[in-house]
Amino acid sequence: MLDLLKKHFGYDQFRPLQAEIIASVLERRDTLVLMPTGGGKSLCYQLPALRFDGLTLVVSPLVALMKDQVDTLKANGIAAEFINSSLTYPELSRVQRRVQRSAVKILYVAPERLALPGFLDFLAALTVSLVAVDEAHCISMWGHEFRPDYRNLVTLRRVLPGVPCIALTATATEQVRHDIAEQLELTQPQEFNASFNRANLTYRVRPKRNSVEALTDLLNEYRGESCIVYCFSRKSTQDLATALGERGLSALPYHAGLDNAVRSETQEKFIRDDVPIIVATIAFGMGIDKPDVRLVVHYDLPKSLEGYYQETGRAGRDGLPSECTLFYSYGDKVKQDFFIDQIEDAAERRNAQDKLARVIEFCDLQTCRRKHLLAYFGEDWQQDNCEGCDVCLTPREEFDATIIAQKILSAVVRTGERFGIAHLSQVLRGANTKRVRELRHDRLSVYGIVEDLSDGEIKEVANLLQAEGLLRKNSREYATLGLTPAGRVFLKNREKLTLARTKRDEPAPRAPPGSDPAQVWRRHDAPASAVDDASDPALFEKLRVLRRRLAEERNVPPYVIFGDVTLRQMAAYLPQSRESLSHISGVGAAKLEQWGEAFLGVIRSHADEQGLAERPVPGARRGRESPGSGASRQGSTYAATKQLLEQGRSITEVAAERGLSVRTVVGHVEKLVGGGEDVDLGPLLPVSARLEAIRNALERSGATALAPVKALLGKDYTYEEIRLVRAFMRQTQ
Ligand code: ADP
Ligand code: ZN
Repeated sequence: MLDLLKKHFGYDQFRPLQAEIIASVLERRDTLVLMPTGGGKSLCYQLPALRFDGLTLVVSPLVALMKDQVDTLKANGIAAEFINSSLTYPELSRVQRRVQRSAVKILYVAPERLALPGFLDFLAALTVSLVAVDEAHCISMWGHEFRPDYRNLVTLRRVLPGVPCIALTATATEQVRHDIAEQLELTQPQEFNASFNRANLTYRVRPKRNSVEALTDLLNEYRGESCIVYCFSRKSTQDLATALGERGLSALPYHAGLDNAVRSETQEKFIRDDVPIIVATIAFGMGIDKPDVRLVVHYDLPKSLEGYYQETGRAGRDGLPSECTLFYSYGDKVKQDFFIDQIEDAAERRNAQDKLARVIEFCDLQTCRRKHLLAYFGEDWQQDNCEGCDVCLTPREEFDATIIAQKILSAVVRTGERFGIAHLSQVLRGANTKRVRELRHDRLSVYGIVEDLSDGEIKEVANLLQAEGLLRKNSREYATLGLTPAGRVFLKNREKLTLARTKRDEPAPRAPPGSDPAQVWRRHDAPASAVDDASDPALFEKLRVLRRRLAEERNVPPYVIFGDVTLRQMAAYLPQSRESLSHISGVGAAKLEQWGEAFLGVIRSHADEQGLAERPVPGARRGRESPGSGASRQGSTYAATKQLLEQGRSITEVAAERGLSVRTVVGHVEKLVGGGEDVDLGPLLPVSARLEAIRNALERSGATALAPVKALLGKDYTYEEIRLVRAFMRQTQ
């Protein structure tokens, strides 16, 4: 399987669960996959398709995406076609004839086709090996994207009895999952639920002040890269796109009110890297599959955390570090409240209020945003510091909160647990306002007892007290505060309390804005296994230019040629022969054949100009090399390592004996295992508690890279240990 993966897709490793899912499909079992956007779902049916004798039929509702998906497969040398309403009649019959001649391995079809009896007859007469149902939640009425057309799939299943089915989705509750299995008549499906953590995404919430300027600075940090800015209203998308344009940023608006033609043109420009920034209402995104979106901004509040997760999920599908920033102001909340109040149906209104309250809660967090987001989707994230959200990244300091906590809690009690923090703060700070006087809160003993803190600081402590479980919101929609039982005990016993707040005089970390490309580059450093060291930004730019030219010639999106990970690796390792180019992630045999020389040309001339030499690609599988080439020399170094290990030496001993680093020896072990050699990893593994921790982190991390796994585990764990455990997991799969 790894050989097919390298040959056809150019990748060296599977992403979490891919190997297991593929194994299940190859056993011809019905399979149900829940995996986040960017998790790598497509490969789960595309790779088995290459192994099966017959056709793999892929049902997908995203008609606009089919062509790009098929082009991507074709670029990898895989015979794929699609059938949807965009084909002319002659095109349709050409595709059908090719399919009948078994000249096609993977066929994408739109679900509405399945309602045509003629089409079902056509399918029934073929040898179909696998049916893949993408966006499978569309079949469920419980889901939010129900497509009546998906009900045709039942007929399809019956027309193709005994053909295994894989259903894939990124959004499904327990109920929807159950519904999918039932509707598709899956027999004892194997279920795979991947972690919904997107390890390569960094989540930030910023106060919405001077917001156009702040947004401009942020976008400038990502100059030249693809960014999406989500806004609340159609009008604001237009105004904001114009404002950004005036500030020298190329941005286009996108919303459901635009003419169809304009909309698809805008989308196309974004996909083709002609326009880097789209300012959109949430209508944008469903129909795009762009893997290299580096920044998603919520300029206004999202309506729900589900929406927020889905929209931010469009960033960094290729696994490279990407950012999600939300601008938050209280004024925006009030604005949203106003719209929600207009909803006539009472149940619907309550629901909207509830969803919004969860968004506000997320914005106010003083604890890890990732943990909170995952908990919202029912996932228990164990790490204390994710190193990928503003809360975790902001330096914190501990302070003695005993007195201020007592004051805030007392104020809550004295005012009858009926007020929000804004009013409480006024009372505590002794504000002489009409409302305070009317409520006679100026006569309370807590009036004016806080002198040295601002409203913002009091609010921060109140949020911390909520996180600590001493205070709680009385209801979801009104932000009035009450004491928890623990809060009452605390107040009664006068216990000591230490809290960690944002370090004073130190604003949240953020690279200074600037358009210096080198600087931007450093900020976006790729994860360790994608690009180990500094890569060359100038070369990356040259490679991007070439990629765009080739894409234009072929009339496909640039990422169909090569993804960013591939270009960054090229710019890091400067491969100058076909052989070394083939070790770069994303360079499969077909792409090497078609574009290898073109990219090598650019790399060679850049290397000559700058006097740079090629560097070995770490961790690349060299399984495809013929014997007698460099591989056999390397083969013997692996064999030497293997021999010593078989004699019972530890990794450190082998390293010492052979004059190699531990890292290199671990690399040998990975190669040996990857090449199917029988190496007993048992004695090399860490003790079981550590092994479990690493295994857990590997399974949870949604990325291909080791860096996020390391980040999860912390300083106590070494890369070598992680790599050994990963090899072990592969071996036992
Ligand atoms: P999903 O459908 O789950 O959102 P995709 O199948 O579109 O995800 O994959 C997202 C990106 O990850 C694509 O660019 C794909 O080529 C890449 N990818 C998938 N599997 C791997 C892998 N094993 N190694 C490296 N990249 C991968
Ligand atoms: Zn965090």
